[in-house]
Amino acid sequence: MSNIYDCIIIGAGPAGLAAALYSARDRYSTLVLEKFYPGGQINTTDRIENYPGIVKISGPDLIAQQLKQVEQFGATIKTGAEVKDITALPDGNIKIAAGKNEYIGRCVILAVGSDYRRLGVPGEDEFRNAGAGVSYCGTCDAPFFRDKKVVAVGGGNTAVEDTLHLAKFAREVILVHRRNEFRATKVLVEELMTYVNKPDSNLNLRLDSVVAAIEGAGKVQRAIIQNVKTNEKETIDCDGVFIFVGMVPNTAFLSGRIELTEAGFIRCDTGWLRTAIPGVFAAGDCRVGAAMQLATAIGDGVNAAIMMKQYLRDRNWWKQPIPGAI
Ligand SMILES: Cc1cc2nc3c(=O)[nH]c(=O)nc-3n(C[C@H](O)[C@H](O)[C@H](O)COP(=O)(O)OP(=O)(O)OC[C@H]3O[C@@H](n4cnc5c(N)ncnc54)[C@H](O)[C@@H]3O)c2cc1C
Repeated sequence: MSNIYDCIIIGAGPAGLAAALYSARDRYSTLVLEKFYPGGQINTTDRIENYPGIVKISGPDLIAQQLKQVEQFGATIKTGAEVKDITALPDGNIKIAAGKNEYIGRCVILAVGSDYRRLGVPGEDEFRNAGAGVSYCGTCDAPFFRDKKVVAVGGGNTAVEDTLHLAKFAREVILVHRRNEFRATKVLVEELMTYVNKPDSNLNLRLDSVVAAIEGAGKVQRAIIQNVKTNEKETIDCDGVFIFVGMVPNTAFLSGRIELTEAGFIRCDTGWLRTAIPGVFAAGDCRVGAAMQLATAIGDGVNAAIMMKQYLRDRNWWKQPIPGAI
């Protein structure tokens, strides 16, 4: 069998599977290479309430539907196929190395996603699931903590924004930050401090502090906070811990191969998702500027597969500016 495909998609998360659906349904030969098994991050949650058009669904149920749809249009999905290298060939095609196998793609869609940065404290893995109380996404999970008490951790933009979002739902939020100043932009910090200083505010700070452990029986019941200056410990009874300490894109294997940001996100034009290598697109949580949501990852996969058609028709399209873009 020929190892040359019109489209090779790296990563079978929501973005990769959405790209595969559009590519295979348009009758392009489509190969999806997945390091583990299909699904990506969303496989680890049992409740999604913000995917438009579906009131409530678990990650595995949604992925099962996505997979069925992709497979019926003839895309090949190879699991246990970790891509370690990609090379632009002189003829414009792209070579992909996964284990002992090599594949050639006329186009490649990088949909390798990101992982939430972990705190690495006792209890974090045990309760890693919003149902049990540890979450990494305020937008996804804040409504599940209505009228509850939660601890949030972090000091950057996402931490401040998501903590303010959490405070709209939770009865009380304690934001723990290891320094005494926030890294977030000035305007966000001002918004945070205005909120904290309101009379009867439901948001309190623990600065110069870290979460040392998360404890409970079956679900989160308390967080142990430690002041890094005095080493003093405090036990906070709570129902959840939100960890907002950043994302780690799964792009280490692309370093030196394709342009990445300092944080490791794939650089691309965010309208048509073209990377620095002609024929290689980036989609979903691994790309610069991603909104880190299921719906946006799926939108990216669809967009990349549609844009790919322009390139397969005419390789000069790659340099074309986006009409009307500012
Ligand atoms: C617990 C949890 C709950 C969430 N809840 C929500 C929610 O309610 N609503 C919402 O909108 N979003 C939610 N999210 C976020 C959502 O899951 C992500 O935004 C979405 O999964 C991103 O999709 P993706 O395809 O870009 O990346 P991912 O889902 O990360 O998938 C990337 C895939 O690429 C594979 N891969 C990585 N490197 C390689 C390689 N070198 N070779 C081959 N394969 C590779 C990975 O194994 C993975 O399968 C949640 C996330 C988590 C973790």
